[in-house]
Amino acid sequence: MTMQHQGAFAPFSSAMPSSLDAFIASHTFDRPTVVLDTSRVRAQYHRLKAGLGRAHIHYAVKANPEPKVIAALVAEGSGFDAASRGEIELCLAQGAHPSLISFGNTVKRASDIAYAHSVGVRLFAADSAAELQKIADHAPHAQVYIRLLVDVSEADWPLSRKFGCDGPMALELLTFARVLGLEPVGLSFHVGSQTRRAEMWAAPLEAISKTWHAAQAQGHNLSLLNIGGGFPAFYGEAIEAPTAYAANVMAQIDTLFETPPRVMAEPGRGLVAESGVIVAEVLLVSQKSAQDTARWVYLDIGRFSGLAETEGEAIRYQLETAKDGGALGPCILAGPSCDSADVMYEKRPVMLPLNLVAGDRVLIRNTGAYTTTYSSVGFNGFPPLAVCVI
Ligand SMILES: *Cc1c(COP(=O)(O)O)cnc(C)c1O
Repeated sequence: MTMQHQGAFAPFSSAMPSSLDAFIASHTFDRPTVVLDTSRVRAQYHRLKAGLGRAHIHYAVKANPEPKVIAALVAEGSGFDAASRGEIELCLAQGAHPSLISFGNTVKRASDIAYAHSVGVRLFAADSAAELQKIADHAPHAQVYIRLLVDVSEADWPLSRKFGCDGPMALELLTFARVLGLEPVGLSFHVGSQTRRAEMWAAPLEAISKTWHAAQAQGHNLSLLNIGGGFPAFYGEAIEAPTAYAANVMAQIDTLFETPPRVMAEPGRGLVAESGVIVAEVLLVSQKSAQDTARWVYLDIGRFSGLAETEGEAIRYQLETAKDGGALGPCILAGPSCDSADVMYEKRPVMLPLNLVAGDRVLIRNTGAYTTTYSSVGFNGFPPLAVCVI
């Protein structure tokens, strides 16, 4: 597969006249910079909300913790899924009400739980007895939901295995939560990040509903189904439009659960990715020998400066240059650091203009999620990815 260009396939969220592109075209940047457009974040929030209907959105802060992004979502009435004290403080500082913040990490520092409790956060995730004990100790009487393992993910960036417990253990944990004086309100899961099509939710939802019904049969009065994130962004392969996608997921839920539960969704990538463009630059175009004619293109940004999700070539960003109209050829795309792991695309080479040279600007589309905070603080002396919010 080759990189497609924005012009050849207008992604849904960028269909509007782009002030983002106008801003980028009229500015110069002296280092790799992600330019974020908060009006796109707000528009995408409404597209997802239109499909999610009664479900409440809790934006997964880790996808992009830029304060202005958080503030824009506070203004729209979004809730937040926070993973640490730092993320809770960030949301509060931007005006989020603590009742709209859930502490969704299943691996929490005890002092962070105590902090969350002290500022009024009442909803916590757990997937183990030891974590429930911590919550009971530091946030007595809190509401908890149990995260289930999803082992059938078809996502491009799966989150399975590390988080969640199996169904039988979840049932035990619901009971244990009561013993501890907590209020077990429901179940959660994550289908895996960048789940491109809504029908990929069918198997995970089916599995979750079995545990849900078993819990109800045992007398647990569950009310909350937290469906996590997984909503996709456009990276070159077709995805369903956000409203239709979200509506499809909700329709599946309504079929599987007789009494429709209160639903919480935690989009990260699907909410913010398409609001950002990285402005980067070619540092070098070269080849390894007269025989080995493979073309290497080195950018001023790589695996360690914001494009961590190129790991395993999982996420394939779209690149765009001013020379796109002409002849294209394959190249191996690498970052600037002195680490051989800093090669982004090699197994599936990228098509870039044959006349590309050092100094040419490269736009990397839909990079508003999982970039800024995945940038190292100064590996090889390169500064972290700069952020510019419009
Ligand atoms: C990361 C994360 C999300 C967001 O996932 P996306 O795939 O970016 O939408 C949601 N919920 C939890 C608990 C997460 O850890």
